[in-house]
Amino acid sequence: MMSNAVLSKLVVLALFFNIQSAELPQTDSKAELNRQLMANVQKTVAETIAPTVTINATSQQEGGFFLLRFTNLLADDKLVIEHNIFSDTENKVYYQNGTAYAVIPLDYHTIPGKYPLTVKLQRMGKSFPLFQQTLSVTGREYEMQHLQVNQSTVDSTRSDEAYAEYHKKFMPVRLKSDNQQYWEGRFIQPVEGHQTTDYGAKRKVNGSLTSYRHNGVDFGAATGTPIYASNHGKVAFAEKLKLTGNTIVIDHGLGFFTYYLHCDQLFAKQGERVIKGQKIATVGTTGFSTGPHLHFTASYHLKNINPYKIMEWNGDWQN
Ligand SMILES: [Zn+2]
Repeated sequence: MMSNAVLSKLVVLALFFNIQSAELPQTDSKAELNRQLMANVQKTVAETIAPTVTINATSQQEGGFFLLRFTNLLADDKLVIEHNIFSDTENKVYYQNGTAYAVIPLDYHTIPGKYPLTVKLQRMGKSFPLFQQTLSVTGREYEMQHLQVNQSTVDSTRSDEAYAEYHKKFMPVRLKSDNQQYWEGRFIQPVEGHQTTDYGAKRKVNGSLTSYRHNGVDFGAATGTPIYASNHGKVAFAEKLKLTGNTIVIDHGLGFFTYYLHCDQLFAKQGERVIKGQKIATVGTTGFSTGPHLHFTASYHLKNINPYKIMEWNGDWQN
């Protein structure tokens, strides 16, 4: 005989796995139905453990991110994250020994509103609803910036060739992240300096509105000012590009990246492990740039999040 405690746990699991009575054999006897239900539940979940889900918040501003962490997974479990906040990027899930990590990043294109989130668990050839939550995304205002740029700089750094190089070399770097959390604690501001352009700013260059938005934060500082790694990671890219000048990308693992653009000198090499606060470059004005500054971007794969949001975060999955 099963104890009441075990029975009630199985009933909870039955509800959890949303087992429909319609799937059970028809019977007139309520007791028999209960017996069969329990047998069915036992068979289905006897050797399984219900995964637990944590989410860092149910409301976030554009540029922020939702963090999902799952524990007690079985080796072959797969999670499917469904929402319509965006549809141009897959919802990646990182798996590590019974724990899984997923992030829903928000950028300046995210439309404020309420979004249903559903997480499905695929286990033993079946799909179960595991977690449902309505997520709220709040909006914010963005500045409009007017830039006057020397036409020869525009021509040499924002040419078709420069964009082609950027898309060929820089974009693929962001698709693949190590399945290992390198970062620890907060991400630090990588340079001492004052903000000159905020995340998401709209820009007019020589009077014409650009189609792109400012995907990071600019910090003005003198040429040669040290630039430090915002957190532990692995250098995923360290090269000169026409558009972004001397550029470093750090993979912090599990999909998070930071980017350091327009540098003067680079001190870190591709593939190298770096620690938080390590000097990786100096401020410069290489590429499409009107004066010495660091352009600092943070992303979850292809989605450029607000760098201040990653710097406000304590680095924990449950924060
Ligand atoms: Zn910038």
